[in-house]
Amino acid sequence: MRGRIIGFDVGGSNIRAANYTSDGRICIKRICDSVIGDKSGLLGTIRNLVKNPDNYFKGDIYSFGLPGPVHDQTLLRAPPLELNEPISASELEDLLDGTVVFNNDVNNAALSELNLGAGIKHDLSSFFLLTLSSGIGGALVLNNKVCNEFPCEFGHTVVERNELKANKCSCGNFGCWGGQASGYGILKMAQRELGSSEIVTGRRIELRRTEDIFQLAGDETNREGFISSALIRGIRDYNAQGIGNIVNVFGEIPIVIMGGLGLNQFERIIPGKEDIARYTINPVPNVLRSELGDDGGLLGAYIYARGLRNEP
Ligand SMILES: [Zn+2]
Repeated sequence: MRGRIIGFDVGGSNIRAANYTSDGRICIKRICDSVIGDKSGLLGTIRNLVKNPDNYFKGDIYSFGLPGPVHDQTLLRAPPLELNEPISASELEDLLDGTVVFNNDVNNAALSELNLGAGIKHDLSSFFLLTLSSGIGGALVLNNKVCNEFPCEFGHTVVERNELKANKCSCGNFGCWGGQASGYGILKMAQRELGSSEIVTGRRIELRRTEDIFQLAGDETNREGFISSALIRGIRDYNAQGIGNIVNVFGEIPIVIMGGLGLNQFERIIPGKEDIARYTINPVPNVLRSELGDDGGLLGAYIYARGLRNEP
């Protein structure tokens, strides 16, 4: 397999596309809104990016990071996209006139972290990559290898059993870590709690983005700020339990945080070692932030395609 690689990182909020320099750095990147619950709409959006007259994203090999389990080059389902039907790489090959390769998005992010991020900067050959964004995902890297064979669905461990507080998760269960402490979960809880506060104060707060809650929490002199701060302390505790579960399974290997929510709000939502220790018997490892920002998935898509091309 030879030729020009185009990378895609498809998530619940955005679709990112990139082309690359010959040594794998991102050259041109485009971000558009994701398409939810509409397979043909999603494929059409991808096709339009490739077939755009500017030809920025026309290539020979299209490498996709996708938010769900990938088996034999088929995406089996994608809860963040509200898709329950499979999509095969060959379906997209017909549409894009090129070779298409699929990988799970978090596994692509782990590839980039290993080859370009913490793997290099902190000289780590083993770590757990934890992505906190519109959902919560994870991937295990052991001895310089991304362990694709483990689903690592820690985001679907239940951390909230109180039915007044538990959100319905994309998996159908209630109170999952990813349904509570993801961007989606935080927004949902804040809307519920500030909605009931409105009955007392008469003030209506419009919440559209997760960041709005972090902004409100900056001012505890009013009721809304007080509620938002308490909510963020609760999120930090969910994260302590979730990370504690990871440490219970994998022991003292470092944890690297990726994803927009995790990176932008690291200081406020990532618990300290003593908080995580309340949920685990094992020594708590270092919890580090990724250096790759939002580009981890796109950089990993390139590395994955290059690996499949058997080039050094
Ligand atoms: Zn779930």
